This record gives sequence, structure tokens and C-alpha cells, in this order.
Amino acid sequence: MSLPREASRLNERRAYYLRPRVAVPGDDTLPRHMFVNGIRKQAIRFHPMHPDSPSWQRDGLPHVWMPYTQHQTAPLPLPVKATNGCRIILEDGRELIDGLSSWWSACHGYNHPHILKALHDQLEKMPHVMFAGLHHEPALTLAKRLCRIAPAGLTRAFYSDSGSTAVEVALKMAAQYWRNKGDKQRTKFLCFRHGYHGDTMGGMSVSDPEGIHQAFGGAYAPMQFSVDLPTDEYGFAEFQNLLDGLHKQMAGVIIEPLVQAAGGFRFHSPDMLAEIHRLCKERGLLFIADEIATGFGRTGLMFACGEAGISPDILCLGKALTGGALPFAVTLATETIFEAFLGEKQEKSFMHGPTYMANPMGCAAALASLDLFEQEPRLAQVETIEQQLRTELAPIRRISGVRDVRVKGAIGVIEWENGMLDLPKLRQRFPECGVWLRPFGNWMYVMPPFTISESELRQLTAALMQTAKEMGA
Ligand SMILES: *Cc1c(COP(=O)(O)O)cnc(C)c1O
Repeated sequence: MSLPREASRLNERRAYYLRPRVAVPGDDTLPRHMFVNGIRKQAIRFHPMHPDSPSWQRDGLPHVWMPYTQHQTAPLPLPVKATNGCRIILEDGRELIDGLSSWWSACHGYNHPHILKALHDQLEKMPHVMFAGLHHEPALTLAKRLCRIAPAGLTRAFYSDSGSTAVEVALKMAAQYWRNKGDKQRTKFLCFRHGYHGDTMGGMSVSDPEGIHQAFGGAYAPMQFSVDLPTDEYGFAEFQNLLDGLHKQMAGVIIEPLVQAAGGFRFHSPDMLAEIHRLCKERGLLFIADEIATGFGRTGLMFACGEAGISPDILCLGKALTGGALPFAVTLATETIFEAFLGEKQEKSFMHGPTYMANPMGCAAALASLDLFEQEPRLAQVETIEQQLRTELAPIRRISGVRDVRVKGAIGVIEWENGMLDLPKLRQRFPECGVWLRPFGNWMYVMPPFTISESELRQLTAALMQTAKEMGA
């Protein structure tokens, strides 16, 4: 049986690296000669790298599962050979200027010699050792330094290995805090629409159920109270009413301060943040700031909480913590929270412990990253980036179909009307323009490394302008 020619070609285009078709004797849908190592040859031919495509790629692609990717329709991911400074170097030698800092983590650019040296030195001594009953210098020095620069009152660092885990830790800390204090009612969390706190079950339960987790049907959200972020007087009155009615069931509130990132790059003012903090604290809620995206200078100050003059009870950090070098995260807590876990009984201690907790390599990278914030003018660079983004993105506002252009620190966002963005086309266009950007939903955005040069940033904004014109109505 054979498919009509057109249909089968379409199938081949779609199927390339996702459905390795094993050539089984007797399978007459395609002749035997169309298979190489069990993968359809046509599929391989569609590969942009062919015929030089190396075997690791040809043989390996059918075995990986990419994140947030529709394998049936997505174009092939680009093969990266190396990174350097603010550039991503592809296997074919092309260099892309990086506008995303690898999901907002590489704040000093890639391969910074100071971080590389710290990693080499640490690797020689000890790549890893467990962190229970044992401890080591990098973990303790980092804890001390983080507590010194974090918003006032945070004194204890609990290490983990990803942002999502740092959020899980924060939620569990808050939940167990109340149980340890004998309050069994405060079990739920207050969270905000358009919020995003990670892809694990706990993080998902406090993220927007209609956001990127809608594939799970919001099944985990009913565990929590998800509300609109109050923005005006009416919103705050409503918010206060809700708190008054339900706060005794709430262990805490979790918020991305100033910028709700993955949920659509929505900004709110420091005043609003301070008011939300005040209302929640008045009613005893633990205030959890998720600064995994905003922390380490992204919004202008070292931490977004600083702009509102607030100190959270619990602070989650990840992403740029290691300057983008290694997966590592930390949850900071106040001494008051820590003390609620003290007592004679083992069950009162915090019942959580990732295998790779306080990984010395992660600690070494984070320490080196903190050095760079001290030794190099990072926050001044963020300010310069902010000015340049404001100037160069502003004209895009006039393109029809663009709903909003906004900038905060080293974050530039172009929000489009629904359905205006042809994402597959755009994702192909940006590399053609020599830049690495990955729009999603209705958003084109740029979050470059802070070390980016003026001309590199101009190439990013020029690519945004160019593609925006192509997308515009
Ligand atoms: C990215 C992110 C997370 C999740 O971090 P991972 O390292 O991807 O697990 C959580 N919260 C916020 C605000 C984030 O931006």
C-alpha cells in the first residue's frame, strides 16, 4: 500500500527525527532502500545539515525528546558546537548572537574565564560529595555570601538542583512550618494568574492553570487559590476580601516579584508588590518570592524585591545563580522559619534532601558568578541595556498587530495581538538574521547576557524590527 505522493511527502517532512521507522521485512509502505540505520532516508534528506550530517546527530536525534516541542511539526533543533561570550556557534560554523542567555541564565555570557577557572579548580578537588552529615567550604562560603546580598532577614540557604526544585522546597518549607507550629489549617497557597513557578507538580499547582500547563487540564491548580494580580483600587479591595475570608487556610503566597516571566512577561509596579506583601503579612501568610527569573540583576537591582523595599520570608533563586554554567538552585529562608524546625523530634526537621544538594561544582560556579557581580559593572550594564532597548524597540510599537512594547531592566518584550505570530516561521527567521531568539505565545522577547556589546544588542533589536515588519498586519 502506498500513500498518494503529496501526502507521503508531507509525512516525511513531519516525521524526520521523531518516528524512527524501523525497516521491518514485509513492511511495504516504503522500499527498503529508503532506510538508513532504521531511520527513513527521506527524513534525513530533509535535514538542513545533510549530507554532512554527522552520525551522532543522525543516529541520536530519533532518541531524544525535546521540551515544549511538537515533534511532528517542529523544525529540527539547531546543532550547537560551542558557546563563546554572547555567541552560540553552530556546527556549520555560523555564529548566532544570543538574545536569551540560555533561558535567562548566562548573565555573564558564556565561558567566562573566571567561572571556567573556578570550575576547573573545583573539579580537581571534588566534583561532588553528599551534603548530609558532611559539609564543605564552597557550600558554606556561598551560603554566607548569598545571605549577605539577599533582602534583609534571610539567613539560611537550602540548596537544590533546579528552579522547580527550589520552588518545591519553598512550598514544603512553608507547609511544614505551620504544621510544626501546630496549625493544621494553613495548608494551601495563594498564587497569581499568569504566574509560572516551574514544571514539577508543586510548581505547576501554583502556576497559571491556563498557562503553559493547560495540557494537564488544570488538574493540580484546584489545590491552591489562584487569583488575578491586583492592579487597581478595585482589584486590591477584592484581593483583601479574599484574604480576609480565606487566609486561615493559607500557608503562604508565592509571587514572581515585578515580572511574571514565562507567563507572558507582565510587569507590575514596586508599589503594588509592596502592597501585596503588606496585606499578606498582616494576615500571617509566609511570603515566598520566586526570583528564579528576576534575581541577579535582570530587572535592574540585584533582586526585584529590593525595588519594593520588601523582604520575603522565603526566596527562590536559580537560573543565573551559576551564571548559566551548571544546574543549581537555592531556597533562602529567615531564621524564624528555620527555628520552627528545631526540637527534640526528628519529624520536626525539614524532610527534604536532593541527592546532589550543595553540589560543590554548582557552589564554585555561583561563587565565581558573585565575584563577577562585584568585580565587573553588571548592574550598570543592565541599565545601559535597558536604555538601548527602550530606544531601539520603541518604533516597533507603531507596527499594526503589536499590542505593547515594554522594557524592564535587561528584558525587552513585544506583545502581539492574538494569532499574529507565525511561530514556526519566526523561529526559522531569527537564525537567518544571525540571532538566537525564541518567541512563544504572543511574545517576542529578548533577555540578553549583561555583557552584550552595544552593536550585538543592536543586531538583536534590528532582527526584532525586521521580523516584526514581516509579521505586522
Ligand atoms: C524558570 C523558572 C522556574 C523553574 O526553574 P527550572 O530551573 O526550569 O526548574 C521557576 N520559577 C520561575 C519564576 C522561573 O522563571
